[in-house]
Parts: sequence; C-alpha cells; structure tokens
Amino acid sequence: MTDLSKQPAIAVPDILALDTILPDEPLLMMGAGPVPIPDRVAKANSIVINHLGGTMTRVIEQVKSMSRYVFQTRSEWVMGVAGPGSAAMEMAICNLVIPESKVLSICNGFFSNRMAEMARRCGGQVIEVSIMGNVAARVDDIRSILEKERPAVLTLVQGETSNTVYNRYLKEITALAKEYGCLVIVDAICTLSTMPLEMDNWGIDAIISGGQKGLSSIPGVSLLAFSEQAWLHIQRREQAVVQWCLDAKLASNFWHHSGYHYTAPVSGILALHEALRLVCEETLPVRFARHQRCSMAMQNGIQAMGLSLFVAQESRLNSVVGISLPEGLTSAEICSHISRIYQVEIAGSFGQPIVRIGQMGEQCRVHNLFRALHALGSTMRDLGVAVDLPSGMAEMESLLQNAPVT
Ligand SMILES: *Cc1c(COP(=O)(O)O)cnc(C)c1O
Repeated sequence: MTDLSKQPAIAVPDILALDTILPDEPLLMMGAGPVPIPDRVAKANSIVINHLGGTMTRVIEQVKSMSRYVFQTRSEWVMGVAGPGSAAMEMAICNLVIPESKVLSICNGFFSNRMAEMARRCGGQVIEVSIMGNVAARVDDIRSILEKERPAVLTLVQGETSNTVYNRYLKEITALAKEYGCLVIVDAICTLSTMPLEMDNWGIDAIISGGQKGLSSIPGVSLLAFSEQAWLHIQRREQAVVQWCLDAKLASNFWHHSGYHYTAPVSGILALHEALRLVCEETLPVRFARHQRCSMAMQNGIQAMGLSLFVAQESRLNSVVGISLPEGLTSAEICSHISRIYQVEIAGSFGQPIVRIGQMGEQCRVHNLFRALHALGSTMRDLGVAVDLPSGMAEMESLLQNAPVT
C-alpha cells in the first residue's frame, strides 16, 4: 500500500488565462441553446445583491408577475429554481408524482424521455407512449391508454428540441387528459415565449422552462409554474419530497414569503428579470410573429439552397430547425467547420442524422439569420456538398423584406 503521507504536496497547476482560451471574437450562438443574450441581460448578470431583503423582494415580485404573463396564468404558484431546465423539470415531477402513482409519459424523443425517467426515479409507475417517426403526438395516440390506465400525471413536451418535432396537438391532448382528472406537466424549455402557450386556458398544471433558450437569458436559473390544482395536490401529499432543494413548498418560502430556502442565484435572477422585461416590452404576439417569420425565412432559405429539413412541415418545430445531414457528412464535421471557419456555433443532435439551427429569442434577429445561413451554406460548399448559396440567401431576403424584423 502507498503511504499517502509520503506523497508530494499538490503543486499549483499551470493555468491559462481565460482570454487565451476564449476565441478572440465571440462565436455566434445559433445552436440549440444557450443563445445570445441581450446586453441588458449580461449587465444584470454581473451584479450581486443580497438574496434576502427589500430589493430582492421587489425583484422577485416583478419576476413572478412577468412570468405569469409569459406563462399566461393567474396562478399564484410561479417560481424559479437554481439549475438548468432539467432542474425545473425535476422539480415539477418530484413534487407532483407520488410514489406508486401512475404517470403517462408521451415520448417524442430525448427530452420527453427524460421526463419519463425522472418520473420513474420519483417512484412513479410510468407508462411510456413512444411516438415514432418524428411526428407530433395525436389525441388518438393516448385516448384508450388514458381510459384504461387512469394516470394521475401526464408529461409531454411542446417542442422536442432533440429531433425538432412540434407537438402541435398539445392543447387537445391536455384537454383530454383533464377530462380524466390527470395533472398535465408540459416541458416548454425550448418554446416558451417563441410560440403560443396558454397555461390557464389550456388547463396545464405545470409548465417548465429554462433561461438559455426562448427567453434569451443565461443558463442556470429556470422558471416553472404550478396551477392552483397542482398546488393543492402538493399541499395534500403526505410523503415529503426527497429532493430537498427541489421541494416546492420549501421553495415557496423564498418565492412567496421573502424567506430563506437556499441562497438564490441572485445574478441569474436579475438576468432573468431583464430577459422577461424585454419579452414584456416586445409583447407576446409580436414576439411570436417575429419567431414565426424568422424561422420560416431560415427554413425556406435552407431548402432553397438545396438542403432538406428533417421533419415534415406538419410536425416541424419553428424554435429549432433540424437539417438532414448530406450524404457522407457527420454532424461533428459540419459543426466543427462552421465554428472554426465562420465563428458560428450550431448543434448536432442526440443520435439523429441532423444538425440544428436554433430560432429562439435573440437568434431570431435579421443579422444573425443571414450570418448563420451564409455560414451554413459556405460550410456545406467547403465540405463538398453542391449547394446553391445565392438562391438560399435570396429566398431568405425575399421572405424577410415583406415583413421586416429587426
Ligand atoms: C434544452 C432542453 C431541455 C434541457 O434543458 P437543460 O437546461 O439542458 O437542462 C429539456 N427539454 C427541452 C425541450 C429542451 O429544449
């Protein structure tokens, strides 16, 4: 055995300064998140204030009221969590899923599968409905299962970022689940503030979001909302939530009573405040229209260049666009070339034969669209794919000139 006391002391490591690691010019973040953040958000993120006290209380009150607008809910039970979108996901699930209770998980891909996995870890009896073929889930896919299984909770995703499928029947599926008395949890991490989602009108019981996607804030602070009915369910549950940090009742000390739960990520909350304020300033209808126009311009530009989109129009997500890989290329080759040569970051995917270009928040700005499309086309050309770059750029321009976006 080694005598540990004889080991030499650990020496100071050789470390490079950050500016020698970071690129000279920031890369344009056009992948599936994080996305570029507005200057005001970046500035807010550089401030540290007391996590308790009058200033924080005022900030939190505003974050909650702006969130209620973005979620379209009058529910009191809006809160944030220190952590990625997945922490908000886990918080919704571990508070609403009671061990041994049935959970119906609609699985369109990687992220909706994650909800099923979390529900299992919370002791739920999970019934997975796998939707194959990169299409939206339909009401008929779940009617008989709801009837037979009578689950307590249903989970589904609005936009399945991994394969770029849009669950366009979310509203109808939620309505049906409510007929069976089921609580509905929606993952809107990628889609919140990029397309319509009406928590109260559609009867959703919990909505999950992250900071670094549609909201164009920083990663690491996330938002979620519980309906009044969901909150009652949380109040009544007998078993304590195992995850102490994610216990919604404890979190409510901070989010509703100006008290202490854990030290809140103050800078990130200030950043989120600014991101939400910019959404309120723009208003949701205008923001949705901007996303729709920009994504259509991107999609049509990509197709006019001669590349193909992965998902058929009917189930295609606008918030993240999936492009089929041209013959003989891998997503890693494309992503590394476009980053190295054109300073644009795009994303591969989790096992899907695609690369993805995000259309969330600040990504949907004209200058970012043109630069990203040009970089994509140039990359394909550099890598030997026959693309018609001028036609793609012209198509984008012609779609945008009739309805300008800034
Ligand atoms: C990005 C994303 C997640 C995961 O969010 P993290 O912040 O990485 O935890 C989950 N669901 C969807 C739909 C997403 O787009």
